Amino acid sequence: MPAIESTRAASRWTTRIVPVFLAAAVAYATYVVVARVCLNYLLRSLHEDGTAVALLVLYFVFFVLMIATYARTLYSANFNPGVVPLGPRAASQQGTKDGRWVRRPYGAHDIEGRAYEAGPDEDPDSPGLERFYSRDAFVCENDGRPKWCSECCNWKQDRVHHSREIGRCVYRMDHYCPWAGGMIAESSFKFFVQFTTYTSLFCAVVLGATAYALRRQVQQGASPDPFLLAAIVIAAFFGLFAFLMTVTSIRYLLQNMTNVDILSYRHKVYQLAVRVPRGTRSDQFGTIEYPLRKLDNGPTYRKEANRRLKPNGRVPEDRGDTPHASSRDDLATRTFAILETRPGENPWDLGPWRNWQAVMGTNPLDWVLPIRHSPCANHENPESLYSMDRILNKLRARYGLPAGPPSDESTLVEMRNLRS
Ligand SMILES: [Zn+2]
Repeated sequence: MPAIESTRAASRWTTRIVPVFLAAAVAYATYVVVARVCLNYLLRSLHEDGTAVALLVLYFVFFVLMIATYARTLYSANFNPGVVPLGPRAASQQGTKDGRWVRRPYGAHDIEGRAYEAGPDEDPDSPGLERFYSRDAFVCENDGRPKWCSECCNWKQDRVHHSREIGRCVYRMDHYCPWAGGMIAESSFKFFVQFTTYTSLFCAVVLGATAYALRRQVQQGASPDPFLLAAIVIAAFFGLFAFLMTVTSIRYLLQNMTNVDILSYRHKVYQLAVRVPRGTRSDQFGTIEYPLRKLDNGPTYRKEANRRLKPNGRVPEDRGDTPHASSRDDLATRTFAILETRPGENPWDLGPWRNWQAVMGTNPLDWVLPIRHSPCANHENPESLYSMDRILNKLRARYGLPAGPPSDESTLVEMRNLRS
């Protein structure tokens, strides 16, 4: 499995060099805290056995946790960052070079190349669309179709973002982090938060141990050890950096946000396609029917969306461009209302406790150990790729729609009536 690396040479080199710097800093801190402070000074000179043992235990607990979470983050960010498979058109245009995804060059007269640059796939049977309408809600464009990535030639599922850094779409992308060695996204965010937390605590232990030893040296009238002073500067620098990252990440965790969501989030408005009883029409919102239907001639995609009711309450007439499907086909269709959130409403916000559990897990052991992936990465929620029941309940109430998704029971009843 090739590592997913940055498309930029500078980032790739930073990613390779940073771990060497980190390893050097940790080796130096270990030498100062273990050898100089605990063994030589506290144990042999001052005979403060209790303090020395307590500091050593704290030091190695956070040392092991920090290294383990770093290794897990590094692995996830490089080998399993949650990249979305390429669409068929992009897959034929891209390939791996030195283990990285690159787009193959194409000439100006390359018809395939031009097709590759084109907008959304207009085929009503476009591969991947069923992943959206088989659920009850998804983020959509004004016309009710999902967002499209013209680089990956793929429909973008909820919270999928295209990263220019690695040239691929990524699930629940957060940021590209040269410190953590790659893409921090759905599969690595939990380990990243654990890593920054343990690094902050590790640096706090180093600061505490060296500051205590320095204070004792000054009390004894000895000249301060310069090794300790250097360790304080290094630990303060990395500690402050890690602490700020931890605070920001925990805030995102509790709000169910990412570095991508946070961009202009106060004004951000989401369009959501929300499944409603079949045939629902309203003057408040547009609707779209899935699966999209093929037309005999002209455009293959029927722009059902925004066929809003006329002021007199009548559905606008079809101008002959709507195919007449059989009643049985009708029953297989699903109607989605295109609803808009208010500015600043975060569709993914489930409340702090559920937001925390979605990423960190439900078991406290999962919170502290870098073993299991975030529950949200399982994509097991039948209603939407990521839970958004809170906003869906709000929107359904706001737009006067029945609470909850339409049951399949009503479809079965209609099917039975049709048969008889
Ligand atoms: Zn993409």
